[in-house]
Amino acid sequence: MASTFRKRFLYLLPGILTLCLSLGAYVLHSMRMLPWQSPVFDTALPATLPLTGAHAVLIFSKTNGFRHESIEVGIAAFKKAGLENGWDVHATENGALINSDYLHQFQVVVFLSTTGEILTPAQKSAFEKYIENGGGYAGIHSASDTEHGWAWYGKLLGTFFRDHTFLPLHLPEAEIITENAAHPANRGLPGRWTKADEWYNFKENIRKNEGFQVLLSLNDGSYPSFWYKMNGDHPISWTHRVGKGRMFYTAMGHHADTFSDPTAMRHMIGGIAWAGKLAQPVNR
Ligand SMILES: [Zn+2]
Repeated sequence: MASTFRKRFLYLLPGILTLCLSLGAYVLHSMRMLPWQSPVFDTALPATLPLTGAHAVLIFSKTNGFRHESIEVGIAAFKKAGLENGWDVHATENGALINSDYLHQFQVVVFLSTTGEILTPAQKSAFEKYIENGGGYAGIHSASDTEHGWAWYGKLLGTFFRDHTFLPLHLPEAEIITENAAHPANRGLPGRWTKADEWYNFKENIRKNEGFQVLLSLNDGSYPSFWYKMNGDHPISWTHRVGKGRMFYTAMGHHADTFSDPTAMRHMIGGIAWAGKLAQPVNR
């Protein structure tokens, strides 16, 4: 009997090992724990500092972890939106530009799908001062999977990325509920709409955080996932104020189509404008 069991176990062993390796790879992928990547920091400034005009928006997309293919698409879309709205949009991945002298030229800094540990202690300190003195922050998608060990950044965001949709679908279409329809980021958005994307779960539900305002949430019952979600209350976009500064975050943006989806773009452009105290687009 025991030997039959052992034979069966040996027969199943390759399958069990494959399953364990797949699960391990899934966990590493979803937690972005890529031990072979060590962060690269920037300390050298460009020979000439890029000058900005009025209503300046800085897009920062440095990655020291997973790199989203949608980053370049997003930069192009925000530059186009900048031309339409009279914003001077600059994009960089040089962390050395996160210094007080350079940042003070910008109304808002967009962390566009940043990942990993990307700033030195001095750069973090400059960014904290910039926001608390009235600067704007707009985080897109994996901006919440960035700098998990930076306590101030955690307070700015309210929580961090936990994991995302993967099985049975990586990019399922989900129903999005627009909350706080009067907020500038939500003006003109349908009450309920659908979009396909990689949907994030977070370590904490930010709805309980004092001073935070939920802008969008997911209808958790509207898409499949073998993994547990957010217990039926699933904020994916939110805002709050830090010192004199403002923050806006949205979890959407893995899918490059996000940046050509008029509803998603309306939300993100409205959120960036609100965070940067910029005039809202006129056609809203
Ligand atoms: Zn993603």
